[in-house]
Amino acid sequence: MKILIACDMEGITGVTRWEHCDPTHPEYQRFRKQMTMDVNAAVEGAFAGGVEEVQIADGHSQGQNLLIEELDSRAQLNCGTTSPWSMMNGIDSAFGGVFFIGYHAMAGTANAILAHTWSTQILNWKINGQKIGEFGMNALIAGWFDVPALMVSGDQSLATEALRFVPDIDCAVVKEANGYFSGKCFSPAKTHERILECAQLAVQKKREGRGPQPLKMNAPYEVEVEFTQPYMAETASRLTGSERTGGRSVTITVPDIPAAFLAARTLCNLAV
Ligand SMILES: [Zn+2]
Repeated sequence: MKILIACDMEGITGVTRWEHCDPTHPEYQRFRKQMTMDVNAAVEGAFAGGVEEVQIADGHSQGQNLLIEELDSRAQLNCGTTSPWSMMNGIDSAFGGVFFIGYHAMAGTANAILAHTWSTQILNWKINGQKIGEFGMNALIAGWFDVPALMVSGDQSLATEALRFVPDIDCAVVKEANGYFSGKCFSPAKTHERILECAQLAVQKKREGRGPQPLKMNAPYEVEVEFTQPYMAETASRLTGSERTGGRSVTITVPDIPAAFLAARTLCNLAV
């Protein structure tokens, strides 16, 4: 079995501030190392569970965060932008499952560290009326390839969100958020143990024919992006086929998940 580890940074062990995830800030160097260690724990767990291959997708900012020289040498790294699947760089139907490491809750979530969706310009992403964050969107991309989301790591609010989309997903909670910039963080020694055990269990369940099914939604897909400011919706609504559906909102209906992801990404890129 092959596993893809899709990783982000805001849900990494100890991260509570944007500065921790900002490549221009001195604190970033500490937390990119921590991100590498969280990912290594997941790689270790995957191999302990019996997988043959692990690929990693570095999904934060420009996809250049993980320290390749400190990564478990059994894993391969998909990094850099602008890859077709962005945070899911490398995904295809050959994978047996995806781990989401260092993920965060969607924009607007209470008691969730650095909760956002794609950028801080976005109030909401909705698909067919349902609010969706980065976990849900990326799990849908995996699902389009018939690949299930097997585990997540992040704070407890991310875990709650992931369980709403994938009821039997395994969750490694590395911090308990009590605010946007605050929470009780567990030590790396503890979180790496949790991530490793969770990853190993998720792979074992998958190999035994248990565990989550690929996440799917019924087509067609009405994608709505709600921005923080009306001028962002003005420029985003220049996308052919889209419609201005509110002061802050633009909507477009597309036939499949790749088009839904591309539409959401393009609308966000058009907003200035
Ligand atoms: Zn990120």
